[in-house]
This record gives sequence, structure tokens and C-alpha cells, in this order.
Amino acid sequence: MIKVAVVGSIAMDLVVTSVVRPGAGETVLGEGFVMVPGGKGANQAVAAARLGADVSMIGCVGDDHYGQQLIDNLKHNGVSVKYVKPVTEVSTGTAHIVLAEGDNSIVVVKGANDCVTPEYVEGALEAIKEANIVLVQQEIPFNTIEYLSGVCANYRIPLLLNPAPAHLISQNVIEQATFITPNEHEAKLLFPDMSLEGVLNQYATKVLITEGSKGVRYHNGKEEVIVPTFKVEAVDTTGAGDTFNGAFAVAVAEGKNIADSLRFANRAASLSVTKFGAQGGMPSRKEVEESLS
Ligand code: ADP
Repeated sequence: MIKVAVVGSIAMDLVVTSVVRPGAGETVLGEGFVMVPGGKGANQAVAAARLGADVSMIGCVGDDHYGQQLIDNLKHNGVSVKYVKPVTEVSTGTAHIVLAEGDNSIVVVKGANDCVTPEYVEGALEAIKEANIVLVQQEIPFNTIEYLSGVCANYRIPLLLNPAPAHLISQNVIEQATFITPNEHEAKLLFPDMSLEGVLNQYATKVLITEGSKGVRYHNGKEEVIVPTFKVEAVDTTGAGDTFNGAFAVAVAEGKNIADSLRFANRAASLSVTKFGAQGGMPSRKEVEESLS
């Protein structure tokens, strides 16, 4: 069984559905409310665990009710929580989502996710050193990503950076990461002075741009190609990217080549959008393999 370490965010998503969106100073009556586990780090950890990897989550929650629920959820999905620390004096990360008028508005409170500092990650070095691949996203402090990419380069552990939400990353991190997986929008923000063709060409086999229902675009060393995803009836695309990243990490760590790993990740992500919720739709290994054969 391959080992995956995920350094990232853990959050509770509080989702309200409403016909109208309240304006400033206004109160409206909503239709429904659900709470679902989220955070890009936790989502990717669950995706990888469902696909059969031995996953260790490295992150922080608050010492509160949501924190405990999120730890229980990770455990329930077979993710090791040895390095998930409940911290005091700060709340568990939350995302406050209003689905109204055909669109969403989101307020994210990072809370305990800001406690995933370089020092905290240093305390989890054991899990990182024994991993076949490490995953990180951008919902934790930026200097932690810098630190982690240095550690992975030092110990020669493949690092997959999912640069979401997008903000500029240092050239150092770009060079040290093994894979960088922006969606199209994130890729444009990350490399504002280059065309996407230029980015893919310069970072062949490293930068993999996900393009929603079209699949993934990358340069295989000889030419730029698109690995198409699978046609499905999309119900909820939340977490498609997270499933994609967890699945790609598992496949590549197992020794599949990049093209085959992308096909596997497209299959897993396309299955995930056929069900509601980020984690709700993440497929098992069996589901992915049966639908690929
Ligand atoms: P993000 O969720 O980060 O914005 P994308 O929308 O690019 O990322 O989706 C990530 C991956 O999920 C795609 O590369 C593809 O494999 C899969 N995917 C997303 N939307 C669909 C869809 N409508 N049909 C099939 N696969 C999809």
C-alpha cells in the first residue's frame, strides 16, 4: 500500500440555500441548511484514502465541536489523524456558503488552519519522510508551503502542489514541486506574464492544467496534449479538483506513468461530480477500476 501525506486545511462547510441573497442590512428566509466536511486538504486526503492509499493528514482544527466532528470524519474514512492537532483559542476553519440566485457567495474563516506553521509540520516529519508522495494546497500559511517544498526536495519525496485558492508562488516552490495542478483560472493568476502554451512548454510534465469537463492539458515532453475526461451527468462539481488531485497522487505514487495517472484521475473526478457534496461523491477504488475496464 502506498503512503500519502497531506499537509493542508480541514474545515466545516455550512451551506445555506435561499431563493434570494440578502443585501447589506437585510434579513431573508432561507430554504435549507446542511453541514458538510470540507477543506481542500481533508477532501484530498479522503479522496486518496477511498482509492486505497495509506493516508496521513497533517493539519489543525479548533478544540471545539466541529473540530471533533471533522476528526471523526477523517477517521471514518480511514485517514490517520495522528498529526491532526486540536488547538485552543482559535475556532475550527469554516466556510459559510450561500447558494442563491443560481450562484454561490462564500466567506471562509481560516481559523485553526493558520496554525499549520512550518514548526507544526516539522513535528510531523516522520509521516512526511515515509510518504511516497506529499500533497499540499494553499489554504495554509504560505511560508509552510515554502518550508515543505524544501523538505520534500531534501528528502527526494515527490511533492504535488495544488495551487488553490490561487496566489503567486515563489520560483523556488515552482522549481522544487514535482507536479503543480492549477485549474485554468488559477494557472492564469499564477503565471500572469506567460501564455498557457508557454507555461506548459516550460514546465513540461510538471504543470497539469485541469479544464473541467474537457479534462487535463499538459506537455508530455514532446508535445502539448489534452487527456479528455469522461462524459457524465454532472450534479455537483464541488470537490472535482480535490478528487482529481487525490487520485492523481495515488496513481503516480503507485508507479503509473503520467498519461495513465491522468486518465485514472479524470475517471475518479468525473465520477465524483455525479453526486452531491465534495466528499460525498468521491469514488472507491473498485468503482474507478470497474468503470475504467
Ligand atoms: P476545480 O474543481 O479545481 O475548479 P476543474 O473544474 O478543472 O477543477 O475539474 C477538475 C477535474 O474534474 C477535471 O480535470 C475533470 O477530470 C473533472 N471534471 C470536472 N468537471 C467535470 C465534468 N462536468 N464532467 C466530467 N469531469 C469533470
